Amino acid sequence: MAHSVNKDLCVGCGACEETCPLGAISADAEGKREVNADLCVDCGACEGACPVGAIA
Ligand code: SF4
Ligand code: SF4
Repeated sequence: MAHSVNKDLCVGCGACEETCPLGAISADAEGKREVNADLCVDCGACEGACPVGAIA
């Protein structure tokens, strides 16, 4: 199962996008990040990088 972003918590800092080794994270129209589940390999790097705990 892929990681995913809780957009109610995301502040759009981009740390997760920079950290993802697969390029699986991108910004939506509001600048909040989302995970492309087809690319995510569940490494957990984004979860550790998020300063507000928005990714699980
Ligand atoms: S769990 Fe790993 S591969 Fe999946 S989105 Fe996060 S950093 Fe990218
Ligand atoms: S690291 Fe967290 S707060 Fe920053 S863009 Fe990613 S999900 Fe949003």
